[in-house]
Amino acid sequence: MLDLREVSVAFGALTAVDRVTLRVARGERRALIGPNGAGKSTLFATIAGALKASSGTISFDGNDVTRLGEPRRARLGITRTFQHSSLFDGLSCLDNVALAVRAERGVGLRAWLPRAGRADVEREAARHLELMRLEPHGPAGDLPHGGQRRLEVAMALARKPRLLLLDEPAAGMSAAESAELAALIRDLPAELTVLVVEHDLDVVFAVASHVSVLAAGSVIADGSPEQVRASAEVQRAYLGT
Ligand code: ADP
Ligand code: MG
Repeated sequence: MLDLREVSVAFGALTAVDRVTLRVARGERRALIGPNGAGKSTLFATIAGALKASSGTISFDGNDVTRLGEPRRARLGITRTFQHSSLFDGLSCLDNVALAVRAERGVGLRAWLPRAGRADVEREAARHLELMRLEPHGPAGDLPHGGQRRLEVAMALARKPRLLLLDEPAAGMSAAESAELAALIRDLPAELTVLVVEHDLDVVFAVASHVSVLAAGSVIADGSPEQVRASAEVQRAYLGT
């Protein structure tokens, strides 16, 4: 589904991503871990098309997307989670997701929709909310932190992703919230490919079938969660033992 070959990203003299080769199969749940500054977010931005690779190629579902900008990659199905700021605190969870559904369908936010069209948008929004175990009613701003992060995922689902990029979705969550999120990510539709950057290793090991480890811009290990956990190199670079 996703095929990165020798991708590098430089910021001036700093090579933040250094010849990364990575292949992710359709439907895979892949975690990307590594110390702060390893280049994980830079790599995500490069996959999404917000940053350009300095060298290397990226293909997505057989299309070379290396030269495509973020909107075109989004139309092919590469989606990153919305940031917090994009939640409308005063709107209900349902309305937040309904706006994302309308945007995806190209129905302007202020455009009038006949009753049947509105009902259809709301039905779809409700399905995305259900996947994230959120209630439709009540202002988004009243949700606890964990619920707000799940709402962001529901809004990303409204964009009909085929590859979902989640950058530290469990950041700031309590242990109970992150365990719940991990279960929900694991249970996302099987055909959806998920790439997740996460520091919480309980989440990583609960979600991922495959883990890649990035350190100083390079992939230093790659394998099943068990293999990665056992790798001496990973333990030195990341797990701190
Ligand atoms: P991670 O997400 O793994 O913590 P980042 O991808 O955010 O790491 O950062 C990788 C390296 O690139 C860091 O040294 C960071 O300071 C640097 N970096 C990230 N974004 C920029 C930028 N826009 N300009 C210059 N340096 C950057
Ligand atoms: Mg980061």
